[in-house]
Amino acid sequence: MAAGRLTERDPAADYRRDRRRLVERLRDGGVSDLAVLHAFDSVPRHAFIPDVMRARAYEDVPLPIGRGQTISSPTIHALSLEYAEIRPGHRVLEVGTGAGFQTALLAALGARVYSIERIASLYEAAARTLDRLGVDARLMHGDGTRGWPRHAPFRAIIVGAAAAARPPEALFRQLADGGRLIVPVGTRRQELRRYTRRGDDYERETITGARFVPLIEDGQRGGRAGRNP
Ligand code: SAH
Repeated sequence: MAAGRLTERDPAADYRRDRRRLVERLRDGGVSDLAVLHAFDSVPRHAFIPDVMRARAYEDVPLPIGRGQTISSPTIHALSLEYAEIRPGHRVLEVGTGAGFQTALLAALGARVYSIERIASLYEAAARTLDRLGVDARLMHGDGTRGWPRHAPFRAIIVGAAAAARPPEALFRQLADGGRLIVPVGTRRQELRRYTRRGDDYERETITGARFVPLIEDGQRGGRAGRNP
């Protein structure tokens, strides 16, 4: 490989510097969970962003990932993870893999990750990216509103798309006692909510206002599962 001139930009160093700034910004913005901040420092968000948008990978904004879908802003992912109270070894279900960025953050937090995506091309792209980065997560192509009963109960379930009204019943049922369901609810005006299971009761809190793509219910049976195929 030819040696670059000293004045040449080093994209890897630029990304590292931008990522460090993003982490500082999240911390200044009130994210205090050190494990979450460390996860943001260790996962290269730019690897999940389409080429044309990659220069903006470390801005605190949602970005398009194709098929009309978006990767959430870092602040929304950080809040979701903080409120989900993920600890190493927790079994976590993610509904809406999207580009797979939050999947990688969950794995960086030490969770045993199960993630479902309904759009085949996004599922395949996420599987490739996660595989390339060596992220350990089980992915499935299918309808996440039905949960993943085979691996339930989950300590946390994080939904990356907004339920129009009450979140899907299957997700409540697949939550472990004391477990957390993080889910945006609403159509035009949305709020990100946390439900905590206490026996047969679910304590509800509002985390913040939000703007997510809609959660689609396909009602289709089964799906394809793989381990980063
Ligand atoms: N957090 C993700 C972005 C999620 S975008 C990331 O880091 O990239 C929301 C995703 O939810 C979209 O990819 C959309 O296709 C998916 N989605 C919507 N309804 C779904 C459903 N019922 N089951 C699984 N995925 C769904």
